[in-house]
Amino acid sequence: MVNNVTTRRRFIQAGGGVVAASLAATASSAATLAQARGGTRAMGQPLPEGVKLPSTPPRRKRPDSVGFAIVGLGGYALNQMMPRFDQAERAHIAAIVSGNPDKLRRVGDAYGVPEDARYSYDAFARIASDDRIDAVYIVLPTGLHAEWAIRAFAAGKHVLCEKPMALSSADCERMIAASRRADRKLMLAYRSHFEPYNLEAMTLMEQKAVGAIRLVRSEQSYRMGPTSPSENWRANRMLAGGGPLEDYGIYGLQSALYLTGEMPESVSATTFRPTGDPRFSEIFAHVASQLRFPSGAVAQLVTSYDSAGTNFAHVRGTDGALIMDPATSYSGQKMRLEARNAREFAPGDPSVQFARQLDHFTNAVRDGEAIRTSGEMGLRDLRLIEAIYAAAETGRTVNLAPDGRMRR
Ligand code: NDP
Repeated sequence: MVNNVTTRRRFIQAGGGVVAASLAATASSAATLAQARGGTRAMGQPLPEGVKLPSTPPRRKRPDSVGFAIVGLGGYALNQMMPRFDQAERAHIAAIVSGNPDKLRRVGDAYGVPEDARYSYDAFARIASDDRIDAVYIVLPTGLHAEWAIRAFAAGKHVLCEKPMALSSADCERMIAASRRADRKLMLAYRSHFEPYNLEAMTLMEQKAVGAIRLVRSEQSYRMGPTSPSENWRANRMLAGGGPLEDYGIYGLQSALYLTGEMPESVSATTFRPTGDPRFSEIFAHVASQLRFPSGAVAQLVTSYDSAGTNFAHVRGTDGALIMDPATSYSGQKMRLEARNAREFAPGDPSVQFARQLDHFTNAVRDGEAIRTSGEMGLRDLRLIEAIYAAAETGRTVNLAPDGRMRR
């Protein structure tokens, strides 16, 4: 597990249901299966290697700052998001939720979280009467997102949920329904929508900087492990679905949609799972898909847990190309236009994406601002992921409705 997590983190920081004939089915129906078996439990894990906890407590925030309960003190929460709350205008860490009492103590002390605001999973329901908590940030393994988001709504809190939203579109629909019932906000933590390079790329594509878009190619890969399923949730289909597509390839899928500004009308795909490799006893090693858009543009998306790290998006149009490499990292983005007006872009510091995402959510909570990365967007993406697995499973092109549902 350590190897896997470390390898992935290093790479990123450097820039770097249809049935059981194959894993395709199990991936898209994993959450439903988990429900049928009584659910996959939230369980505390050791403090990830290399975490640096803050040595001074966070600065005081404005009176209207939104108090968050962070659920799941893992690598992404501790290394990326929690340190960024200080940079946000009106977001602060009000509580933490973890299955590891030692982490609750150490992380709580470092972030100045009062002892009575440190919750175990068993005590989670008590957040309902804790007025210091306005919102819950779900940073758990994906197969647990739906259950804990729905519990947070039942406690009357707003929810910021990590990507992907869940492991099935059915669970996404349950989450959206719970948000509506509770009259609380639901936002997906799709950080690239708040990152300067990707925002600039969206503007350039709207302005037809490469002419009419014909091709999008993107790839998100890294070499996982060695690991074993019992050691790492990312290799466990009940928690991770089919694997690389939900976890990493979702960035390529998202890019294809926000760069073209279109929804695909059909998809074809292939998956690969090697035999005899314990890393891939439950998940796929690679997923490749091809989306066709109503304009005639085609996107080729590849994602892998078993090839050397890369993370790029290329858009090729009638008049040139936009090259983003790396495209959606935490930092180190590079972007250039290869067209008549060829140039490199440096639209800002990518590391602002974390705090800007928090500020967008708090603007929605406090001022009712429309959410850019809504639950409906998360649902749309899960529908497309299900269509990709269905296309791979059947070996046929799957036609799609404008909302991403598969046409029968
Ligand atoms: P980690 O494995 O590092 O952390 C997950 C944490 O969830 C654990 O430390 C543990 O916290 C808690 N947890 C509860 N139940 C379980 C269980 N059964 N198995 C494993 N962990 C459990 O994962 P990440 O932090 O990398 O990922 C968490 C979420 O964040 C995922 O949804 C992932 O997709 C997303 N993510 C998003 C990124 C982005 O760029 N937006 C980047 C990386 C991840 P505790 O011990 O406190 O209970």
